[in-house]
Amino acid sequence: MKNSEKSNKYVGAHVSASGGVFNAPVNAKNIGAKAFALFTKNQRQWMAKPLDTKTIDEFLKNLEESRIDPKQILSHDSYLINLGHPEEDKRQKSLDAFIDEVKRCELLSLDKLNFHPGSHLKKISEEQCLDLIADSINRTLDVTEGVTLVIENTAGQGSNLGYRFEHLAYLIDKTEDKSRIGVCLDTCHMFTAGYDIRDKESYEKTMKEFDEIVGFEYLRGMHINDSKAKFASRVDRHHSIGEGEIGLEAFRLIMNDGRLDNIPLILETIDDSIWDKEIELLYSFKNR
Ligand SMILES: [Zn+2]
Ligand SMILES: [Zn+2]
Repeated sequence: MKNSEKSNKYVGAHVSASGGVFNAPVNAKNIGAKAFALFTKNQRQWMAKPLDTKTIDEFLKNLEESRIDPKQILSHDSYLINLGHPEEDKRQKSLDAFIDEVKRCELLSLDKLNFHPGSHLKKISEEQCLDLIADSINRTLDVTEGVTLVIENTAGQGSNLGYRFEHLAYLIDKTEDKSRIGVCLDTCHMFTAGYDIRDKESYEKTMKEFDEIVGFEYLRGMHINDSKAKFASRVDRHHSIGEGEIGLEAFRLIMNDGRLDNIPLILETIDDSIWDKEIELLYSFKNR
């Protein structure tokens, strides 16, 4: 048995679903992924055609053939959604689209939806915005079932919230059904938000802080990205593994951190033509 087959690390990438969601498991399999992320609709449009039975069946068939565990799929919502929008009509539009995304996950038997918390657009305070996001989370959980909402940490670019672990903890605290809330840590966002992970000491310090403020029991996935932007710059620019400001050591530490076992570890790096090599590289770090 090869080392990667025994591994409890599930590495993959945010693969294309263009042409139909059923293409995503095929694309994942083709790069040797054991996990993947996808958009279940066009991420830059509000409306999407409902998923029909044929599409759903083809997705499930291709997923089975890929032999990827459905628990290692982390769907991502549309970039247009802002659950903390200061204007009520626009927030409602986002909430409706978000609930539709959760229902698409339900139809595809996916148990996780990854989203960015929201932005205050400099019109309300951070706390007011977080309260609106928490309200949107609770409303969504009330009308859906079986899907965990996975809050992603952000770089804090513009007025985006979620750049402090405290923001994630605040949202979890305000969520009524804690069995269906979780978080996803994006390494690039973490780093440019000011959480260093470049060497063993800084990595352990950051992870300890995460555990104390949020808790590993809420960690449902990670985005594995290097960063073009400098440490604590609050700029969100992903880079290929080892090519950016973070460097390889952080990724070696991640691959050997038992607290990150059995969750999807998803590449969102900029050059999709080398994802197969990046996946191989990450697995080569195990036990080294
Ligand atoms: Zn994201
Ligand atoms: Zn991300």
